[in-house]
Amino acid sequence: MKEDILLHLELIDDRIKKACEKAGRNPDEVRLLLATKTVSAERIKTALESGQTLIAENKVQELKEKYEILKDIPHENHFIGHLQTNKIKDILKYDVVCVQSLDRWDLAEKLHQRLLYEGKTIEVLIQVNTSQEESKFGVHPDEAVELTRRVSELSTLKIKGLMTIGLFSAETEKVRACFKILKSLQQEIIRQNIPNVEMKELSMGMSGDLETAIEEGATIVRVGTAIFGARIYPDSYYWNEEKGV
Ligand SMILES: *Cc1c(COP(=O)(O)O)cnc(C)c1O
Repeated sequence: MKEDILLHLELIDDRIKKACEKAGRNPDEVRLLLATKTVSAERIKTALESGQTLIAENKVQELKEKYEILKDIPHENHFIGHLQTNKIKDILKYDVVCVQSLDRWDLAEKLHQRLLYEGKTIEVLIQVNTSQEESKFGVHPDEAVELTRRVSELSTLKIKGLMTIGLFSAETEKVRACFKILKSLQQEIIRQNIPNVEMKELSMGMSGDLETAIEEGATIVRVGTAIFGARIYPDSYYWNEEKGV
């Protein structure tokens, strides 16, 4: 089991390096984030002890369950799931440094209020629904610049870039089109030179499409299955909980 994880991590590392080589990019520009939903704290620990540093959960409940076991191993926690406003208080208890799934004004505003109250700040990525599937969260691409602009005025939220879940498709070019949308939004936001907005991160690419994402400029790839194996819950359980799909 442990060996599996270590072997898979090597394979992923290799895929990232090869994709960077092909794209003429420096592999240091691409960080591997371990998507750890449904993965036990023990298995996550194995990955962290082998030198991984960046992990992310989709649900506050799982963050909470694993927190005690992982907290003494140095690492960085991001959050990549749909965040309900009634869970904001909880998420701030568990050392999340970046919410990658900021996708609506209501959430930004409530997060800001709570952070002000606690005297804290947090990094965020704006999540964009580049595949425009009903089933996925994220702001519509046409509204992403405007949301970024509004969020930039909230002093506790430090915008670092954009995040997307691409289309699930075996057709690489359709998936690539999603990543291109994110890249072009990044360029547009940079062009507008909005105060308090950093656009250095593009979080895109998962187990099945990380090469394409790296070719299109990903700086963070989020990988779960290819490292920890298949999950028992379908992803819809994590992505569509409020939409009843
Ligand atoms: C589960 C998940 C991933 C990782 O997906 P895999 O296909 O298992 O690599 C990436 N991003 C988000 C938002 C996820 O929920």
